[in-house]
Parts: sequence; C-alpha cells; structure tokens
Amino acid sequence: MSPRKSKLRVDLVIPVYNEEGVVEQTYEEIRKVIDALPYKFTIYYVDDGSEDGTVASLNALARRDKRVVVLELSRNFGHQAALTAGLDAAQGDFVISMDADGQHPPSLIPQMIELFQQGYDVVQAQRLDEGGTSFKRLTSAAFYRIINAISGTQMVPGAADFRGLSRQAVDALKSMPEYHRFLRGMVSAMGYNSVILPYHETRRVAGRSKYSLGKMVRLAMDAIFSFSLVPLYIGMSAGVIFLCLAALEMVYVYSFWLKGDTVSLAPGWSSLMFVILIASGVILIVLGFIGVYIGYIFQQVKQRPVYHLKKRTE
Ligand code: UDP
Ligand code: MG
Repeated sequence: MSPRKSKLRVDLVIPVYNEEGVVEQTYEEIRKVIDALPYKFTIYYVDDGSEDGTVASLNALARRDKRVVVLELSRNFGHQAALTAGLDAAQGDFVISMDADGQHPPSLIPQMIELFQQGYDVVQAQRLDEGGTSFKRLTSAAFYRIINAISGTQMVPGAADFRGLSRQAVDALKSMPEYHRFLRGMVSAMGYNSVILPYHETRRVAGRSKYSLGKMVRLAMDAIFSFSLVPLYIGMSAGVIFLCLAALEMVYVYSFWLKGDTVSLAPGWSSLMFVILIASGVILIVLGFIGVYIGYIFQQVKQRPVYHLKKRTE
C-alpha cells in the first residue's frame, strides 16, 4: 500500500528565532489540530540560535510531548537555513513547513494533507490579504513583480514558506545544493504537481518580526542573484547603447572637421564631463553586479554547509 493511504507520517518543520513569547501558544494551537487527525505526527522545531528562553521552552515541549524534536543550530543562520535543517531531518511522507509565530494557521493542516492524498506533491499556501505592516506589503508586492519579470522561474506572490511537500519533493529539494537558498524559488523551479491553497494571514501571536530590513534585503538579493542573470544583461545592453552613442558622436565631430570648423571642436567640456561621469557610473554598477555574482560563486564553491547542528533533543 502506498504511504498516501496507509498510516501516514506527517512532519511539521518550524524554524524559531527568539520566539519565547509565542512557542507555547502556537504549539497548543497545532496540538489541538493534529490530535484530531489519525496520522503519525512529528514536530521538528529548529532553533536558529535564539538568545532568549526559546530553547528552554522548546525543550519543555519535547519533555511533555514525545512527538516534538528540537534541533538547535550552532548560531543564527537565518530562516531559510533553519528550514533547510528541518527538511533535512524530516523523515515523514508529507512535510509541512510553517512559521512559529502563529501567522501560518494550523487549521490549514488537514486541508494540506487532504490535497497531498489527492496526489499533489507541493501544497503551497498563498497569503491573500497580508496581516503585516503596509511597508511589508508594498515591498513584498514590488519584490514579486521584479523577480517574476527577471527570472525564468515564476513565483506566486504571497507564497511564503508555508507549504507541504511530499517525500519525493523533499528529496528533490535536498538534492539542490545551492548555498544561497531562496526556498520558494527552488520549489517553483523544481516542478512536480503543485496546488495553491489560499489563506488569510493572522496577526503575530506576540513579539516582533524577526526579519530585520537587512535580512529582507539579503533574501531579496539571494532570490535575484541566484535566480536571474538579467543584471548582467543590463550591463551588456548599457554597453551597446553607449557604443551607439559614441558612433553618433563620431559622425557629429567628423562633420565639423569636414567643414574645416575647428572652433566648434574646442568647447564642450561640460558635455564631455557628463558623458564620462555617466559612462563610469554605469561601468561601476555593472562591475558591482559582476562582483556580486563572483561573490556568490565564491561562497558556493567553498561548499560550506548551510547550517551547523549543535544538538538534537527528542
Ligand atoms: N526566523 C528564523 N531565523 C531568523 C529569522 C526568523 O528562524 O533569522 C523564524 C521566525 O522565528 C519565524 C519565521 O522564521 O518562525 C518567520 O519570521 P518572522 O515571523 O519574523 O517573519 P515575517 O512573518 O515578519 O516575515
Ligand atoms: Mg511572521
């Protein structure tokens, strides 16, 4: 009998970073949902180097509930790395990743499992109206517009890291060895039968967002520079445009020379300066883009692990 029919093993992967104020409450919500289901659940909490009492709260949960496994990373590696650690540890037939802060409603879990049983390998939850700040909403909308315009991989706006993956899909994801992990892009790139499950995001249970502006920018950079070569093409097109302008300029200067007009050739210092400044600005930007790709390649070839595991508690 296939695992879709027999006693199904379902894993939850939940990355946590400084969430002592929420883990207890969101665990209770999850427990209520999974206790009502006939499947074998394991909850993998991945502590991403929290500095507060998160680990103690998680360990207390693990003592109370033997379905809870706590994976402690050696430091803060970031949300995507923590998710990767959880996906690597998960053994189940269907693996659901979700946030610890209550913004990903556990009430969707039964529906996700049902869709998996209907044969879907990727069950992607899509946030309809965002509960976050309007700044987050705006930057997120702009980000998805850009990334979908410049990358060959189509990404669903509002599709955060709340999704269920079949064993086959998890194994496929694990076989993708990129260091810079933008999981929602990797999942789209991977293919398989996928389905979108819309939901209304709820407010954070407590505490503040752990995604600082810096972390958001880094995630966006990871997405752009590992899913698109368009920044390099921008450089190439700028080069072609400048060459064309130079050719026009040559014709223009030559016309003065033909007329024997040497006076008109002398002025033009300011326009010359203008061209030099623009051209060097474009060159520097393009060099910067190339530099970022080289940096990414450098980090990739070092083949460092995406995270280090410090301790596993069951
Ligand atoms: N998180 C993490 N490592 C980090 C930042 C965040 O593991 O460096 C976790 C966090 O605890 C939460 C999830 O990732 O469970 C999503 O983070 P958050 O709710 O702060 O992001 P937002 O919902 O504001 O985008
Ligand atoms: Mg959140």
